[in-house]
Amino acid sequence: MIGDRDVTIFYDDLMLGHDPQVDLPFLPSRVEKRVRNILKGLNTKWSYPEHPGRLTAIKDHLDKNPISGVQFKVGASATYEQLVRVHTASYLDDIFALEGKMAWLDKDTTAVSPGSIKAATSAAGNSIAAVEAVFNGGAQSAFALVRPPGHHAEPVRARGFCLFNNVAVAAAHAQAKLGCERILIIDWDAHHGNGTQDIFWADPDVLFFDTHCAPPFYPGSGYLEDVGAGLGEGYTINVPLPEDAGDIAYEKAFREILIPAADRFEPDLVLVSAGFDPHRNDMALNLTYDGFAVLTSIVQAIADKHCQGRLALVLEGGYNLDSLAHGTHAVLEVLAGAEPPELTECGIPEVTEAVEFHRDAFVDDD
Ligand SMILES: [Zn+2]
Repeated sequence: MIGDRDVTIFYDDLMLGHDPQVDLPFLPSRVEKRVRNILKGLNTKWSYPEHPGRLTAIKDHLDKNPISGVQFKVGASATYEQLVRVHTASYLDDIFALEGKMAWLDKDTTAVSPGSIKAATSAAGNSIAAVEAVFNGGAQSAFALVRPPGHHAEPVRARGFCLFNNVAVAAAHAQAKLGCERILIIDWDAHHGNGTQDIFWADPDVLFFDTHCAPPFYPGSGYLEDVGAGLGEGYTINVPLPEDAGDIAYEKAFREILIPAADRFEPDLVLVSAGFDPHRNDMALNLTYDGFAVLTSIVQAIADKHCQGRLALVLEGGYNLDSLAHGTHAVLEVLAGAEPPELTECGIPEVTEAVEFHRDAFVDDD
């Protein structure tokens, strides 16, 4: 029942300060020309899709539809020492030099505004706070409501709207400071978590499980055969999916691949890179709110079985504000104790309802 479990959301208004404006001058200039040319070809005004309204949409929907057992807390921003566990010192120096500036970062879609570095350190820090809360007993489960997202950020570069790899920073903190030995990271964002995979590629203490829209969909990585290397061989699990894959396909992947892998690995912490762009109204794939609820119940059951329920989710993508807000709400309800729904093939409940509606139309009354 909703309210049976407590959930803490970690959030700070600092994360609204990351607000790149596409109309302002671009740096470095060779990117400017390319982006301007792309924008010229579009009839509609393009704006940076990863904007502060994503977090306010989730918060507003929660304010209007509160969930019993869910509370908000503010986590401290990440320190240099916490970030340097997964990013190189030279990368961090380059990023911190952008404080207070407006810039496009080379090669990709990622930009910063004057408040971006504070927002990014807050996002990483609130992800750490979520992990600490489930470790010190402050919360049964936690949700880091953060941006910019993190799972595309690699040790040495920003990519795909991501500056710091929030979930990796949180995992590395759990290993370094909380005595955590084996961490399971599940990434259900529509895009492959290339940065997280890269960071833990050779690490047998982090099991990385990623469902995503198959390459060449952005970022173009995450093939079935990519399973890690060296000591970490077998500790990376990629499940690339066709773009119309939905609830039933996801449930099968989670039940038949993730659960046996988790039983073998026996994690002492479960983290989720929770993106809402695989929703049917967002970028790719065909999940419904019920699908997100069932995936949440599966990861919750894994955490209950292996590590006293220690489960922390970190927000990644999700660009349709409506499905982002409703999807997050569906996940939080299950974390708070709601029974997950029974999944059915997409469209079957609607057809069943239509059958009921039309049943008598072509039948004589007698
Ligand atoms: Zn995504």
